[in-house]
Amino acid sequence: MKKVLHISTECYPAAKAGGMGDVVGALPIYLKDQDIKASVIIPKYKTNWIRSQIFETLQFGTFQMGDQTIKYGIQKLLKKKLPFHLYVVDIPGLFDRESIYLAEDGHGYKDEAERFIGFQRAVLSWLCHDSPTFDILHCHDHMTGLIPFFVKHCAAYSPLKKKPVCFTIHNGQYRGVFPWSQRKLLPGFDERFNGLLDWDGQINSLATAIKSAWRVNTVSPNYMQELMNQPDTLRQLYQSESKKCSGIINGIDNDLWDPSTDSYLETHLDGDNWKEFKSESKSKLCREFGLSSSKALIGYIGRMAPQKGADILTSATIDTKKQELEYNLFVLGSGDKDIEHSMKVLEDQYGDEVRVIIAYDEKLARRIYAASDFLAMPSRFEPCGLNQMYAMRYGSIPIVSHVGGLVDTVPDIKDDGNGIVFDVDDPNGCADAFYRAMNLYSDQKKFKKLRDKVTEEDFSWDKSAKKYKKLYKAVLKETK
Ligand code: ADP
Repeated sequence: MKKVLHISTECYPAAKAGGMGDVVGALPIYLKDQDIKASVIIPKYKTNWIRSQIFETLQFGTFQMGDQTIKYGIQKLLKKKLPFHLYVVDIPGLFDRESIYLAEDGHGYKDEAERFIGFQRAVLSWLCHDSPTFDILHCHDHMTGLIPFFVKHCAAYSPLKKKPVCFTIHNGQYRGVFPWSQRKLLPGFDERFNGLLDWDGQINSLATAIKSAWRVNTVSPNYMQELMNQPDTLRQLYQSESKKCSGIINGIDNDLWDPSTDSYLETHLDGDNWKEFKSESKSKLCREFGLSSSKALIGYIGRMAPQKGADILTSATIDTKKQELEYNLFVLGSGDKDIEHSMKVLEDQYGDEVRVIIAYDEKLARRIYAASDFLAMPSRFEPCGLNQMYAMRYGSIPIVSHVGGLVDTVPDIKDDGNGIVFDVDDPNGCADAFYRAMNLYSDQKKFKKLRDKVTEEDFSWDKSAKKYKKLYKAVLKETK
């Protein structure tokens, strides 16, 4: 059985800020069915889940990073709490914080470079000394993007020089860019390969990964096409590395996300009785949050970041409410303080029909998927998007912009698809989509027929896990 180590800064249930956490927590489980033994290593944050577990220390080590001596510990989760091995890197001072990425002000921590470089260096130091052996290293997003370079060009990690490294892009907009003045944080490397670290005169972790990894994939085929064709500073790089690039759509973990057993829910789906499940879930949520349950409910769950288009949602809501379109909107999200504020202003304006909860709350998120009639995703870009798949699994019809992985997973009902689609970055289009949704809702027979259809969609991991297996097989072949 081949062994893969996923190196990531998120893994559900230990630490999750978004979709990458779900993916890294689920893919290893489904790879097992493909005869691949996958383990995961993440930083040891102070999340509730991590604090409640027991870890065994496997190794202590130190390395010099700039002016600091970094002391790290590699620990392994004790007891069979997860169906795969989970390792954590304990670096006091860098990771023992509750929030994964964001400081109090809603922006990234100021010592991001130290944190991510420190993590990557600790993982590689461990892999060079007494760790279990892994056939492939699988890195996720820019936070681990220097690893494909480090293993090839740093003397300190020479035992790993030939180790295949795959790299998955969950979000190509975040790039881990820092000035060359920060190079003191890096381990010594072969200077002839300086250029691999550089993009536009700065150290760019994402660009480094694209240049140095053995294989690069995005989390949907359409997103890879967009990266290769849309105006962006990295377009040329994606094009020149296109031979090793592909797109593999994410799946969802149907066991963890099952409306008939979900432990976060109080109301469960009984057999095929969607009508009762949806109406009970909706009335409970609406009652608790002071909304009328007789109106259609549109949900929104997501990071408050320009990417997710909360401002498009706000504008479509104001537009349609001015025209007295009847529906309730339930928003759950957190992040950028300005976006959070504008969502709260929307709630103040339309308090009877709009509820906005600024929080990261797994339980409430699942209740919203279960209670909503529709789920809105007005994203400006969306590498894959999991919300639309969770929504369908819980009987909620997606209203999405035509972009990224949403194109791969939500064709419009006009084309015999499973959702309502509007043009990207188009508030008027979003408002029109709300009209289309309410029109559909007013014809309950048609609406329920579509709801039945979306609940039958299969977004399970099995197909995609097979694709990852193929990817691993291809890189292993090249090592021979
Ligand atoms: P991204 O990774 O870009 O944030 P995805 O659609 O890939 O977006 O995944 C988002 C994941 O994070 C889903 O599991 C969604 O339910 C969850 N999520 C997003 N915001 C919140 C929140 N405020 N509270 C709870 N879960 C959230």
